[in-house]
Amino acid sequence: MAGPTRFAFGLVAALACISGGNSATGQQAMLEWPARLRADLARVAALEWRLREAAGNSCPAQISDAGLAIDDRRAYARRDWPLLQSAVGLSELPVVVGVATGGPAEQAGVRAGDELVSIGSDPVGAIVTRRGASALAADALLDEIGAVQAGSVVAVEIRRGGVLMTLPLKPVQHCAIRLVLFTDRGVEAHSDTRNVAISTGMLAFARTDDELALAAGHEFAHVINGDRRGGGIAKRRNMEDAADEHGLRLMGCAGYDQASGLTLFERLGANDWLGFLRAPTHRSWKDRIARLRVLPAAGPCPVAKG
Ligand SMILES: [Zn+2]
Repeated sequence: MAGPTRFAFGLVAALACISGGNSATGQQAMLEWPARLRADLARVAALEWRLREAAGNSCPAQISDAGLAIDDRRAYARRDWPLLQSAVGLSELPVVVGVATGGPAEQAGVRAGDELVSIGSDPVGAIVTRRGASALAADALLDEIGAVQAGSVVAVEIRRGGVLMTLPLKPVQHCAIRLVLFTDRGVEAHSDTRNVAISTGMLAFARTDDELALAAGHEFAHVINGDRRGGGIAKRRNMEDAADEHGLRLMGCAGYDQASGLTLFERLGANDWLGFLRAPTHRSWKDRIARLRVLPAAGPCPVAKG
């Protein structure tokens, strides 16, 4: 996986149009996607911060993290820009969509809805150009903060209600695993060596953040454990077992309810009408739940490498 990006977000509007036809409901769905996506981005960012905390030093790499989630219109199709402006106030400047509770951005006084003007001595536009990442502007800005030495202060200029203000941001060292949202109706979560990708379909399917944290925690565990595709059935099954256990501990350490999260597997199992086609590397949902239910709920936090 080359890394799913928010570049695909423009697709959401197109899908809504196709499925909704010309009905009033369809029109409504078309207009509502920016707000829904904004809420999804904030939900994913909060989860990312908490799982990073829980993973501690066990991650393969560390970055400077401000607990800041950013959206930028360059990730969307140009035809969607007017709708983004009217629906969620996204215009030419990147917007803060969420700040982690207790994180550096919140402590610096940054709030959701703030527009980002500059980081350090550079305007945001110059940073995006320098990093050659137009469609991935939000990622480029997070990378810019990620490169600040943890514990040192960087001045961030924001615009709030038309007023400019400069806030002192002091990022902390954090697990570098990135939780990325991608637009797909399928209930999906997967990972590569650095990113965990979770679909908008998974966010819609997960009834609680506990369920979402179980799915994301499992993928975080794969990244932490350096799991790769391939290998024999026994090896794959061991990797999946370890990721299930490690993921459950991670979400517990992140403050999510483990028992409540496990209902995700129950509900996935109930929907798994193609279960007989499942790869032999994966246990049945029932077996996976049974294994996890007997694990001790508590353990040391942050979670050590599995
Ligand atoms: Zn897995």
